[in-house]
Amino acid sequence: MTYDYLIVGSGSAGAVLAARLSEDTATSVLLIEAGPDFATLEELPDEIKYAWFPNSDGNLGEKANSYDWGFKGKATNESPDIEVPRGKVIGGSSSTNAQGFIRGIPEDFNEWVELGNNTWSFDNALKYYKKSESDLDIQDDFHGSDGPIIARRFKKSELTNISLDFYNSCKSFGFDDSYDINHPDSTGVGALPFNNPDRIRWSTSIGYLNNIRDRENLTIISNCFVNKILFDHLTATGVKADILGKEHTYTALNVILSAGAICSPQLLMLSGIGNTNYLQKLGIEPIYDLPSVGQNLRDHPRIPLMWESANQISLKKHQSPLQVVLRYTSVNSNFRNDIYMIIAAVSADQTVRMGVGLYKAKSSGAITLSTSDPYTQPVIDYNYFNDDFDLRRMRDAVRLACNIISSKYFSEAENYPKGMNEIILSDDNNLNSWIRTNVDTFHHISGTCKMGLINDPTSVVDQFGNVKGVKNLRIVDASIMPDCVRANTNATVIMMAEKIADDIKSGN
Ligand SMILES: Cc1cc2nc3c(=O)[nH]c(=O)nc-3n(C[C@H](O)[C@H](O)[C@H](O)COP(=O)(O)OP(=O)(O)OC[C@H]3O[C@@H](n4cnc5c(N)ncnc54)[C@H](O)[C@@H]3O)c2cc1C
Repeated sequence: MTYDYLIVGSGSAGAVLAARLSEDTATSVLLIEAGPDFATLEELPDEIKYAWFPNSDGNLGEKANSYDWGFKGKATNESPDIEVPRGKVIGGSSSTNAQGFIRGIPEDFNEWVELGNNTWSFDNALKYYKKSESDLDIQDDFHGSDGPIIARRFKKSELTNISLDFYNSCKSFGFDDSYDINHPDSTGVGALPFNNPDRIRWSTSIGYLNNIRDRENLTIISNCFVNKILFDHLTATGVKADILGKEHTYTALNVILSAGAICSPQLLMLSGIGNTNYLQKLGIEPIYDLPSVGQNLRDHPRIPLMWESANQISLKKHQSPLQVVLRYTSVNSNFRNDIYMIIAAVSADQTVRMGVGLYKAKSSGAITLSTSDPYTQPVIDYNYFNDDFDLRRMRDAVRLACNIISSKYFSEAENYPKGMNEIILSDDNNLNSWIRTNVDTFHHISGTCKMGLINDPTSVVDQFGNVKGVKNLRIVDASIMPDCVRANTNATVIMMAEKIADDIKSGN
């Protein structure tokens, strides 16, 4: 059978596309996922269903280990290899993430439009952010009430002492209260929206797929690893895939890669689209010379800070360790909300933790291949802090984080974070080196198949996700963001898939 649409990857983007494109009963859709499928809430393993919202052990459960690709990446020349978790399961990383449901800000989309992506105005993005969500707390012009992803916030009465102290300490430094972090003008400290009703991680699999699985025009194949895109000259015709070591071929009129910011560029390069000279050296037959594939790796570098807690942390049943965030603009920065801090109360090891993130980095990295073997992970080089402006803003942020915790309003921890002391904190060179050694990722890898104008040598796809130079092949996932939005990326990837599904339906 030749499908109308073949989607590779059922993550934040792929599941949305499959659901929206199969709304037309005359359109056949094949959704292929490398990981396992769980068709109902009851079938979902606890690791996927509940992580980050533990019973009472306070374990952050950062990644769902059994359903992860287990990638490693290079952060800086000084740091040891860092873990790069990515979901390998129905729902992709939306099934394994931390569920902060936060949107990009208008300035992010202004930049996308300036790059020639004129259908990506903030107003248009807002339309699709609203379409994707049911916000349980806020009903106004900026929120949706009947979308597939359910979002809510912790109320003041539900906050841990650590969240409350953090909130009060941030306020004492002059930061605004942010009642609605998803309001376009929001900045300051407030409750983070989570796509987590009743402690359940509301993935795109639950929100978009579970209710439509009986559609006759939708086929889902799981545990199926796509290792090559097939072409007839410059027209994509399907994919080659592996199920339990057995090779299968699937054909379609339109192929859409939604394999994420690591695997989508990897698949393009394995299939001959990338830097021709480089591909030939690896023994890959080139199809189209597109050196921008895999470049422009964007992310939010994170400095993890950890303090011994001063008081006993005992989370109540189902009380999340993560609740409140601070966003602000660095001194002398033109990038609004370029810093993000999230506080956590971890009862398992009685620590107060903070993730300090640079949410608008100038440095960028790259994804490259080291081999033509599809089963070897690509090289992930984040190249964090290649730009001094990034390092300066992170230094300031780490110092501020330490001041917030040592202020008189924060009584839950004392002294310096583990591994830090006054000699490091007070000296720029020492702190630079500490940051470059300790940095890891906020998990928002994006930009590796950048969208932009056809004549922009740095772009890979046009603003509707069409891959340059070939036909019938699109990419829709985090890889096509021109730059990482100043927010955690799940809500934006879902929004992007909603928009491009409409673009496809209207013939773009
Ligand atoms: C640990 C962690 C915590 C995070 N926390 C947050 C958070 O709190 N808030 C937030 O907004 N964002 C968060 N993120 C980021 C967010 O989840 C991702 O940016 C988003 O899910 C990416 O969506 P995607 O569709 O691009 O890729 P994914 O959702 O990763 O989907 C890609 C899919 O393609 C499949 N696939 C890949 N290669 C192949 C292949 N060759 N054949 C078949 N299938 C393939 C994968 O298995 C996967 O299912 C987090 C991510 C992680 C990993």
